[in-house]
Amino acid sequence: MKYLNIKLVALLFSLLIAFTSCNKDDSIFDEKVEKKAEEKTEENNNQNGEDGEIISFTINGEDLVKLKTYNVTGKNLELQKDTKKHQEIWALVKKIIPLSHRNRISEFILYSGETSGSAGFVFESSKDLSTWKMGIAIDFAYDGGFNKNGELAYTIIHEFGHILTLDKNQVNSSINESDCSNFYTGEGCAKEASFINQSYNKFWKDIWGEFNSAGEDETKRDAFYTKHKNRFLTQYASTNPGEDSAEVFAVFVTRNGGANGNTIAEQKLKLMYTYSNFVELRNYIRGNISNTSKNSIKAKSSHNFLPEAGSWKQANTIGKPGKLHCASSH
Ligand SMILES: [Zn+2]
Repeated sequence: MKYLNIKLVALLFSLLIAFTSCNKDDSIFDEKVEKKAEEKTEENNNQNGEDGEIISFTINGEDLVKLKTYNVTGKNLELQKDTKKHQEIWALVKKIIPLSHRNRISEFILYSGETSGSAGFVFESSKDLSTWKMGIAIDFAYDGGFNKNGELAYTIIHEFGHILTLDKNQVNSSINESDCSNFYTGEGCAKEASFINQSYNKFWKDIWGEFNSAGEDETKRDAFYTKHKNRFLTQYASTNPGEDSAEVFAVFVTRNGGANGNTIAEQKLKLMYTYSNFVELRNYIRGNISNTSKNSIKAKSSHNFLPEAGSWKQANTIGKPGKLHCASSH
């Protein structure tokens, strides 16, 4: 969590806190942390990886190019040296994120989920939301075996869903919140036709006051979810419209068929089917990781089968309401 906050602050400390902060308190927005963030970006190698970073890469077409190695020891040092694991994770990322979108990942980071508490994250690395950093917890990726139960694939799809629903094609970062008449994501004003704006207008607006008054109170947020369960594909989706959009994308991709019925949750899936670019990406991913025989023992032991929609470990939890796109906590 902290990992994200620091970098996010470096990029966005001048923007409003409410929907960008990944932290539990706002004290991160003090001078000290900003300074620390600057120092971090200046150093290229041998950083301490105090937030769990192990190794990072830039992307050159199909290949990872080593960018930073962090000062790590023990288990994390083994993971840092384990290029086979880096490549295995990367191969799965490539099956999920096509080259055209992969080129927009400015940095690919492998980190310790045990340290950070998350399975994956993305955050914007340019103000216009054209490039993004993506992180995957390398230890969690091998929890019980590589991509056990499709958990890693689900995480990557979920994180990719964040980029797709929050990037410059969907959100105009040059419009301030006060000038935004659509849904404001924290990084910018969602475009009228964007999925997140349409989804917000149709499925969130009438319960927005209720959502906000629940705040970070876990009991209230549980009650909010229970009351509006038919609106969400997973409990995690009730975290906020950003997480909701990522979860809709993940279920949209991983579910074999289309919408089941006409609940509001299912209507979100139907809405996503109206975006041809999302449908194309669904086809790309499903073409690369088929789950046609997912119930067979053989497929269960495969590294590349598609997970059950909404099956990931965090599906039945709620994240932080103020984090629109930070992490899928493990
Ligand atoms: Zn997420």
